[in-house]
Amino acid sequence: MRILITGGAGFLGSHLCERLLKEGHEVICLDNFFTGRKKNVVHLLKNPDFELVRHDVTNPFHFEVDQIYNLACPASPPHYQHNPIKTTKTSFLGAMHSLGLAKRVGARVFQASTSEVYGDPEVHPQPETYKGCVNPIGIRSCYDEGKRVAETLFFDYHRQHGTEIRVVRIFNTYGPNMLPDDGRVVSNFIVQALQGKDLTIYGDGTQTRSFCYVDDLIEGFVRLMNHPTLQGPVNIGNPGEFTMLQLAEMVLKKVGGPSKITFHPLPGDDPKQRRPDITLASKELGWQPQVTLEQGLEPTIEYFRKLVKG
Ligand code: NAD
Ligand code: UDP
Repeated sequence: MRILITGGAGFLGSHLCERLLKEGHEVICLDNFFTGRKKNVVHLLKNPDFELVRHDVTNPFHFEVDQIYNLACPASPPHYQHNPIKTTKTSFLGAMHSLGLAKRVGARVFQASTSEVYGDPEVHPQPETYKGCVNPIGIRSCYDEGKRVAETLFFDYHRQHGTEIRVVRIFNTYGPNMLPDDGRVVSNFIVQALQGKDLTIYGDGTQTRSFCYVDDLIEGFVRLMNHPTLQGPVNIGNPGEFTMLQLAEMVLKKVGGPSKITFHPLPGDDPKQRRPDITLASKELGWQPQVTLEQGLEPTIEYFRKLVKG
């Protein structure tokens, strides 16, 4: 198949490019390089099945493809809050242009949605049927509401035009190819520990997240995209739940060095807890995460160690 990946030079996109090329597909990687890097995919350029296109998904695009994975959108809070209006535009227009293209060329289209559609959840763990508790006007809203309206567009294109859609709700994922200054918690803690700097916990560190290793996530993506009927939304994430204090202690133990834990103000609307209910993915896709946080931190630390050493 010929497959378009928007946001293909980012963290998740670069792993997906590799995976799909390995399966023998042609891959078009489209990116505006806001948070993605050519470095993530440059080694793929020698593969004749790979093409890299600089383009912004807020403008329409056209390619003759069989499948579209729409991943374009900054995912880390500091990056998506840097230009929040652009973030909402990227989510909405990126989804609209991906769906418009899918409709024109008859492609199946996949949306990288997020656990953020559940906001600061009152239901725990979160099943796909939970409708969420999202602040429409807070500092995370550009991302959360952008992703929610993108899901709406996906389901309306399906209902109105019969477009073949797949929607995944991704829970916090980590691994190699994250930016060292990405701002997300796993990369922050590892880079801080490797540099001997103090680890920055926001709030009291009792808030929880569930961390999925990137290889597990990409396996879930491909299974959902190629499922004959399941449209989603489907939660993909690792149900192992950790406080930020536990994560900080685990990173310190693995990296060693003189770093200590320090406490800083909690950003607005920061969800207090998050854990996926993965019953649907497990039943319909036969998908279960294989890599524990302890295991996944090892290759992630090694990746950052090389970067930090320069
Ligand atoms: P990332 O920031 O590394 O990748 C996003 C990519 O999209 C980057 O390459 C960036 O340059 C590109 N991009 C941003 N705006 C664009 C635009 N207007 N036009 C074209 N390209 C644009 O983040 P990621 O972690 O790889 O996330 C990929 C997708 O998965 C995002 O849609 C994100 O919302 C979603 N997601 C990720 C996580 C996670 O934990 N990694 C969790 C939930 C959802
Ligand atoms: N966080 C933290 N220190 C950091 C970065 C993040 O304590 O240096 C916290 C953040 O406040 C949140 C959790 O870690 O409670 C996960 O943050 P991240 O930005 O990785 O993802 P998200 O909040 O979008 O789930």
